[in-house]
This record gives sequence, C-alpha cells and structure tokens, in this order.
Amino acid sequence: MALVNIHFLNLQNNYLFADIAKKVNAFKVTHPKTDVISLGIGDVTQPLAPAVVTAMHNAADEMASAEGFHGYGPEQGYNFLREAILKNDFLPRGIHLDIDEVFINDGAKSDTGNFQELLHWDNFIGVTDPIYPVYIDSNVMIGRCGTFRDGRWTNVRYMPTTAENGFVPELPKGRPVDVIYLCYPNNPTGTVITKQELRKWVNYALKNDALILFDAAYQAYIRDPEIPHSIYEIRGARKCAVEFRSFSKTAGFTGVRCGYTIVPKEVSVSTFEGERIPLNQLWLRRQCTKFNGTSYISQRAAEAIYTPEGKAQIKATIDYYMDNARLMLDTFRSLGYECYGGENAPYVWMRTPNGSGSWQFFEELLYGANVVCTPGVGFGPSGEGYVRFTAFNSHEKTKEALDRIKEWESNG
Ligand SMILES: *Cc1c(COP(=O)(O)O)cnc(C)c1O
Repeated sequence: MALVNIHFLNLQNNYLFADIAKKVNAFKVTHPKTDVISLGIGDVTQPLAPAVVTAMHNAADEMASAEGFHGYGPEQGYNFLREAILKNDFLPRGIHLDIDEVFINDGAKSDTGNFQELLHWDNFIGVTDPIYPVYIDSNVMIGRCGTFRDGRWTNVRYMPTTAENGFVPELPKGRPVDVIYLCYPNNPTGTVITKQELRKWVNYALKNDALILFDAAYQAYIRDPEIPHSIYEIRGARKCAVEFRSFSKTAGFTGVRCGYTIVPKEVSVSTFEGERIPLNQLWLRRQCTKFNGTSYISQRAAEAIYTPEGKAQIKATIDYYMDNARLMLDTFRSLGYECYGGENAPYVWMRTPNGSGSWQFFEELLYGANVVCTPGVGFGPSGEGYVRFTAFNSHEKTKEALDRIKEWESNG
C-alpha cells in the first residue's frame, strides 16, 4: 500500500495568491467593464536586458553546432558564472569565497525550500514574521512545524517585525532556535537590516550553534551604502550562515530561472554524537543526486549581467522599479497612510488605515479604487493590519493606480 506523506496534508491549502485571484475574479464578474490594476504582483514586468538577450541568442547558436553543444553541465554550475559571481558580487565587498562554495541553481525558491532536507527533522526553526511562505511550508512538508493552531504553527518560533519594534526582530528568548530564516531586504515588509543588527544574529547563531539561512534575493535594490548586501560582511558568518541569491528580481529572471547559493566550507552542523558535518559537502552530494544543473543558456544569460553593458542595463531597470516605489511612498504619505520599506526594496508595507484588517482593506481598495494589493496577514500572523504594494508594475499603471487611490480617498 502506498501511503501518503501526511505532513503534506497539514499544509494550509488556502494559498494566498489563489485567494486573491478568486476575490479579484469575483469582482470582475460583477464589474465586467472595470479594469483592475494590480500593485500586488510579486513578479517583475520589464523585459530582459539586451545584453542578456544577446547572450541567450549566442548560447542557443552554440548549441546548434556539434562543437558548441552543451549537454549535462556540472551540477554546481559552470565555472564561468561562478567566477563572475565571486568577482562581482563578493570581492568588491571584501568577501573572499572559494569557487566550490558557490552553487548555481534554477532560482532561490528551490534552494530555500530544499536546503532544510540536510537537517534533522526535529530542529526547531525560527522565522521573522511576516515572511516569505516558502520557508515554513517546506519545513511543514517534512513534519518539522507541529500543528497549525490560531494562524500559527506550534513548533515554529515567530519573531515579529512590526511598526511597534521598528521592524527590528528581537533575538529569541527561552528555548534556543536551531535554524533561523532571515530575508533582507525583506519580502514582504521592504525593510532592511543594519550591520549592527545582523551582527547580533550571527553572534546568536555562533553562541547557540544555530544555522542561519539568509535570503538576499533583493540585495540589488539596496541604495543605502551602510546596509549589508551579504551576511558574509559580518565576521563569523561563514561559520554559521548559508546565503541564497537570485537573478529573478536582480535581472528579471523569473522566467529564465537562475540563482545561486553560497555554502561556505566552514559551516557545519552536528550529529547526536557531536561529530561536525560540513554542509558544503552534504549539499554537493544532495545536488549531484537530485539536481542536474541549470540550463547552459540560463547560465550564459546570467553571466551577461556582469558585463559593463549588462550592469548598466539591469541597474536602469532596478531604478525604474524604485521610481515606482518612491512614487508610492510619496503618494501614500501625502494621503496620511503609515508606510514602511520601499527605500531599499521594491515593496511598500502599509498599515491599514482605521485599524481595518488586511483582507478588509484589500476588498475596500479593490471595490473602491479598483486596485489590488496583497493582504499582509497572508505572510504570517504579524502581517495582520498591513498590506503590501509592489513596485513591479509599469510607471503608467502605477501612476494610474495611485491616482485612483487619491480620488477614492478624496471621495471619502
Ligand atoms: C522572489 C523571491 C525569491 C526568488 O525566487 P526565484 O525562485 O529565484 O525566482 C526568493 N526569495 C524571496 C523572498 C523572494 O521574494
């Protein structure tokens, strides 16, 4: 008899974006003539950089000849891309990594979801709250999170990040956390972490022999020179942290699929007997068994973002999105809304006015201004009372959405 992995049955099947789509569709059925603008999308909209497109064409042409054909590549990725990453993303920040510490993947979602399988099932995990749902759900699938009660998992430590604590999560008190997920710049709040605060987490991890899984998918959006782009800017982090990066938000690769994970050779975890097991070797072993590499064409595409033209082009697109973020912040603040983030990240996190719930405000905005946002509570219990706006729509649509919101507000 084939038995199901019952942990999958514990997953909360009301997937946030499916719920939003359902509500938007219900609106469209009753208002067929109204066009709705989404400031809720978590996907980029602008075309790939020309340097990337050229690299993809060239790679495709290479594949058309017997000499240039590439079949299975190395599971860890091609050296041309791993070298470009070291040279451009880390060396300029004074971070010296070995090429074997870089693992190319097909996007950060896979690795942030899969990495937990190297860890014993009863590790105690901690997440900042609200958070990208992949971290918790991938741990639920292996039975690590306990049961879901009153909007939270019994075996997960939620570390609230809210306006009340200035979006600076407190270190866990009481039972130590074994595995900590941090995402900075943060999705969904758009807030960042200072070096000083990040140092506290690294020190906590070193002191408690904990592992930090650091998601830096939005590091390219950081404007403030004081904000760390990598956790390895903090001394000691290479003993306790794994870092996930993605070209999805950096260079519009959501449909191309390419990212990478840094697993330093010094990071290790323990057996019950106290033997130290380096995660780098374990992850390599895992990847060689379960992953057959990212496509050659995608890796050549990613390499192209490190050329001078590529760099200038992706920067222009990031600036484009950040102009939208600026416009959202300015408009919302002029309307008296309380907003966070949006300065070093493509997300604006707004406190819902008059204490309305996330879903209530979502519906009011949909029916009143025909604009879609994302209810904050969908990202965790501390997201209740907030909504997320993304900067990924076009200038024109963003501006029009904001005009609609202004008009809706002025009609009271
Ligand atoms: C978009 C996003 C990613 C990247 O996902 P990909 O699989 O690389 O497209 C990773 N982490 C967070 C928090 C994200 O929002």
